[in-house]
Amino acid sequence: MAASSLADISERCHKIAQSYLQIKEPSSPIIRETQDAIKLTQRLVLNDIFPRWSPFNGEISFSYNGGKDCQVLLIIYLGCLWEYYKSNTNLKQFPLDTLKAVFIDQYQTFHTLEQFVEFTKKRYYLSLYESDRNHNKSLSMPEAFHRYLVDHPETKAIVVGIRYADPFAQDLKPIQRTDEGWPDFLRLQPLLHWKLSCIWSFLLYSGEPICGIYGVGFSSLGDISHTLPNPHLSKKKALPLFYEWEISHRGKGVVNCSPLSSQDSHFQNDEYFPGWYLLDDSLERCGRVKKH
Ligand code: ATP
Repeated sequence: MAASSLADISERCHKIAQSYLQIKEPSSPIIRETQDAIKLTQRLVLNDIFPRWSPFNGEISFSYNGGKDCQVLLIIYLGCLWEYYKSNTNLKQFPLDTLKAVFIDQYQTFHTLEQFVEFTKKRYYLSLYESDRNHNKSLSMPEAFHRYLVDHPETKAIVVGIRYADPFAQDLKPIQRTDEGWPDFLRLQPLLHWKLSCIWSFLLYSGEPICGIYGVGFSSLGDISHTLPNPHLSKKKALPLFYEWEISHRGKGVVNCSPLSSQDSHFQNDEYFPGWYLLDDSLERCGRVKKH
């Protein structure tokens, strides 16, 4: 059932995270590892981020593109927002109607992903800034963020769902300023330490809808003309499913994938396992074709 407000979905996300943390006899080591990952992310958000940049006055924005990593972070972040609100005895009611977020629509993405962003924007009560598709196609990421900051000058820090396993991410820190060549803001990166297997374990357990493109052999979503199903998910080789317990426990045995849009229906196939069959972080982007 859809939540009726940001307060409502934040409370629900808090329950999801807490219920995952309370799994007593994990069926796999991945669950124990994910519990530790959640606790560290919560500590970073509640102890290091919220006391410095208020989540309630527009200083923080959330970078969201519908991908699995930012969705996991969004669920945990909303749960923290709920906890922070509850711990603040001065607040009589939840002080936000929407969560400030930014989506840079920089290249041609999957239509299913765009639909998923629209759907989840409502589900998670995001006030989502979407860079103008027609005019901004040729803008670089730094330029697009520059425009965002011109429109939203109150923004001091942006939450990013990047992980150490992502390209050029191994030396990043949970809180750091942008690099040279970027507009000046703080990057808040409390998901860095998450492994791919932890992302899937938590997301599948959550029972939340996930982008349908992951269901047809994709493990990471980039530019549509440079992203293919991941060859390591080919059904030519049998792969085990590591998250049976997570899926059957909360998701009632079915993964809640968003429907493929008609433009993407040709991706439907019997040749690839879904993205969550991939365990190895280093193979996650093997479906990405190099740009020349
Ligand atoms: P996946 O790897 O499956 O595509 P993802 O999109 O969440 O998942 P990345 O592509 O590695 O992860 O991107 C890392 C993070 O950078 C995202 O979680 C998101 O916070 C931010 N980000 C990436 N692309 C965009 C974008 N176009 N607009 C806004 N934020 C973005």
